[in-house]
Amino acid sequence: MVLEHFSEKASALITPVNIGIVSISREEFIAIDTGIDNSALNKVIKQTGKKPRIVLITHHHSDHMGGARKYCGKLSVFCPQGELGLIRNPIMEPSMFFGGVPPNALRNKYLMAKPCSEAIPFNSHLLNDFGITLIPTPGHSTDLHSVMVEDVIFASDSFLPAEIIERHSLLFLTNPKQALASMERILGHNPSVIIPGHGTPIEDKKVMKETIAITEEHIQHVKTTLVEVIGERNTLESTVKESLKRILGETTLDEFPLWRYFLNRHVIFNYISELEREKLITLELDDQIIWLRLE
Ligand SMILES: [Zn+2]
Repeated sequence: MVLEHFSEKASALITPVNIGIVSISREEFIAIDTGIDNSALNKVIKQTGKKPRIVLITHHHSDHMGGARKYCGKLSVFCPQGELGLIRNPIMEPSMFFGGVPPNALRNKYLMAKPCSEAIPFNSHLLNDFGITLIPTPGHSTDLHSVMVEDVIFASDSFLPAEIIERHSLLFLTNPKQALASMERILGHNPSVIIPGHGTPIEDKKVMKETIAITEEHIQHVKTTLVEVIGERNTLESTVKESLKRILGETTLDEFPLWRYFLNRHVIFNYISELEREKLITLELDDQIIWLRLE
């Protein structure tokens, strides 16, 4: 794992979760996300001989903010306003999956990081002084923000390369429509490189456009599958089961632990909400069973 340099100030440690580095002086840098623990930032400190002055968290997912805990209360840890509650109280994430109080199977490091109760909302004026512009790019999570330095965009999980979509088969999205708009917004800034939260940085404009097209195709595939399943007269729970079987494949599903079921269900629920907003389906309660119907 070596730091890759993209401009005078911007570099990234390309790891399973990419860490953005904005060099601000001979001694200090601003970190963009931390990874699931301290190991990635420790490597940056060792390789650069510099220390972090500010930590920016793009969104609340534990693989991006797990390592922030060490710096909470010691440095400024900034995050998007709409992610603040979850960053200060990570139990809210598995709570959303289970309706209030999550069972033990959902209380793990993948679904909840250690809390960073000292995190505060982004101070855009201060960050502007360091040449940093924040770009709201929701869709993967409610208030995810990308970070632009010169013409380098650290897009976190709002712009994931094709290799990652292929690997996961079902992208984690809270709002698919917003997710696509966010990708277009990123492209609108005409970046020289997009550094995704996972996978290889994208420098070729053609590949940037292709990545949006592939994401759009993926979202359409999930929606078409759901509409097909709902058309076969299905309840909410059987729609989740059947659509996941068709999207991920039965064998893959069998290998997933319990918490992954809730994660996948959460994504399907978000698509169901989107289909309802688009007036393509309705939800009805009949005899204590929720039925989904095509409009
Ligand atoms: Zn994420």
